Amino acid sequence: MLIRRLRFPKTLFTCSIASDVRIQHYDVIVVGGGHAGTEAVAAASRVGAKTVLITQKIQTIGVLSCNPSLGGVGKGHLVKEIDALDGVMGRAGDWAGIHFSILNRSKGPAVWGPRAQLDRQRYKDFVQVPFSLYYKKLLSTPRVTILEGSVQDLLITLADPEKPGKHKVYGIRLAHGGEIHSRSVVLTTGTFLSGALFMGQNTSPGGRMGDPPSCAGLSNTLKEVLGLRIGRLRTGTPPRIIKNTIDFSLTDIRLPDSSPTPFSFINTSTHCKPEEQLPCYLTYTTPGVEKVVKDSSHLNSHIQQDTKGPRYCPSIESKVLRFPGRQHQVWLEPEGLTSDLMYPQGLSMTMSPEKQLCLIREIPGLQRAKIHTPGYGVQYDFVCPTQLFPWLEVKITQGLFLAGQINGTTGYEEAAAQGLWAGINAGRTSLSMPPLSLSRTQSYIGVLIDDLVGRGVTEPYRMFTSRAEFRTSLRPDNADLRLTLRGFEEVGCVSEQRYNETLRVQAGLNEALSALQSISLSAARWRDKLGDVNITLYRPHCDKQRREMERMQVEESLSLPQDIDYLTLPVSLSQEVREILDAMRPSTLGAATRLPGITPAAIVHLFNYVHRNK
Ligand code: FAD
Repeated sequence: MLIRRLRFPKTLFTCSIASDVRIQHYDVIVVGGGHAGTEAVAAASRVGAKTVLITQKIQTIGVLSCNPSLGGVGKGHLVKEIDALDGVMGRAGDWAGIHFSILNRSKGPAVWGPRAQLDRQRYKDFVQVPFSLYYKKLLSTPRVTILEGSVQDLLITLADPEKPGKHKVYGIRLAHGGEIHSRSVVLTTGTFLSGALFMGQNTSPGGRMGDPPSCAGLSNTLKEVLGLRIGRLRTGTPPRIIKNTIDFSLTDIRLPDSSPTPFSFINTSTHCKPEEQLPCYLTYTTPGVEKVVKDSSHLNSHIQQDTKGPRYCPSIESKVLRFPGRQHQVWLEPEGLTSDLMYPQGLSMTMSPEKQLCLIREIPGLQRAKIHTPGYGVQYDFVCPTQLFPWLEVKITQGLFLAGQINGTTGYEEAAAQGLWAGINAGRTSLSMPPLSLSRTQSYIGVLIDDLVGRGVTEPYRMFTSRAEFRTSLRPDNADLRLTLRGFEEVGCVSEQRYNETLRVQAGLNEALSALQSISLSAARWRDKLGDVNITLYRPHCDKQRREMERMQVEESLSLPQDIDYLTLPVSLSQEVREILDAMRPSTLGAATRLPGITPAAIVHLFNYVHRNK
């Protein structure tokens, strides 16, 4: 027998241990069971591909490596869109959430941020032990297999023996022996590629505390064999604090919304009842914190490196050194309904455990606190994402898709969004269907991918509403209307049940809209009647935005051939513009317009060239 079945009684997956696997064949292989990997495997199987997930440890599938929370402004939009395309994350959030709130509620609905604190164990359980009927049906199909093992290398050959330069992937080699062959491979190795962990002056190889890094063969193949440009980034996590050592009376309490709003469009309520939800607490740093950081910075290897860290989720060391004299917020967040631990959001740190204890004890409410697990930092390789097509396939390696932190992003939601789209496209291409892109006029997932492949990253990328030029149209509440119908009719990743539900919602909205349109009132009277419901009042703005979106869609539909030699192209372009186009190789005219340094005149010349040569 080639595969030894694992006893894993609660899961519905087909689980196997990879040590004695020889050659097997699948349509899609997904490497890594983090947030990108789990969405990728589920999405590839939804479009009909026979898919295998290979991950180092089955027990870490669905682990929240850092903060026990989901969503927020921009990130919440991504969760709603993942759900609209029938992904896993929204439903897992509704099952595991223990404190739901809508951020930014005083502003317009386009920038509301659905967010929840999560129970870590429940989140992991949901992803590992799916219970909802639809999900159960999906993952108990023979289309999904999960193998525990480490992928040592990619199996690569030339895409065309006559033309060196372009490769194609045909599978993976396992560290413990054996090969698995497939038409597509999705790499979602997160912080594990050449991963190194930092605490004080100690450094050790690792992808996350307790987990080894990815095998070196994988990084080498990406760099040396495929010639991909690789960069290095870093991030960190705070210490976890023992709850009953905190004096909450010295902090400000923040209650959840009294009526929790589910992430998923197909859920009408959350698993946690309103009265069971837990509060969060707010406290602040003091001058004593700054002193500990400054006094110990020479003993902290992580912060002495040049590697870029997450600008919008910086370590306490970076905040103190960049903004001396300022007070910084520290949110104390529950790690679970029955957990004994609290997560101090805002206190990511990499100093030695002794210094970490000194630091937290300078904070009101934490003067007697005890640390359960110290914080640490991680540095890892990422692949510069401008080397990908908008469907997340590596341009020079047919069949190889990348998603998640490996593309230079940070955050569970960003990883899951890419995993979903890469999984869909890996599944489609393995079944000989054309790959699909998502426009930035249509979704935040489209904005995320377009930013990554079009502009690249110089620091860990996270989503904000300000990144979307059409944000009044891309609201969390209408993600189903924007994506579910296309997801069913064109992409093939949405269940019929969800599709029918969205058709029902759409019909109801259309009916209400026609009823409103038959009434003619002044703007002031409408405001009196409707209060917050702005749908008719915003009509002229929405119409204008729709025209701009249509113009962008036309530009995006004009593909730029990938083999254009921009340096010698016989059109009037400056040397600087030629070099930018040559380096970035935009996939469409729309993507070229968004490149820094590309002039409107250059776009006109390119447009004419593409039309002449169609
Ligand atoms: P991961 O969740 O990292 O999953 C990668 C998976 O791939 C793992 O299951 C691993 O076992 C598997 N794997 C790797 N290599 C192989 C291989 N060769 N063979 C088989 N399996 C393999 N995000 C924030 O937004 N803010 C933060 O402040 C923040 N801090 C962080 C601090 C730390 C210390 C860490 C580790 C992560 C932090 N994150 C933070 C990042 C967040 O965890 C990630 O953005 C998110 O988990 C990325 O998801 P992913 O699916 O890309 O990768």
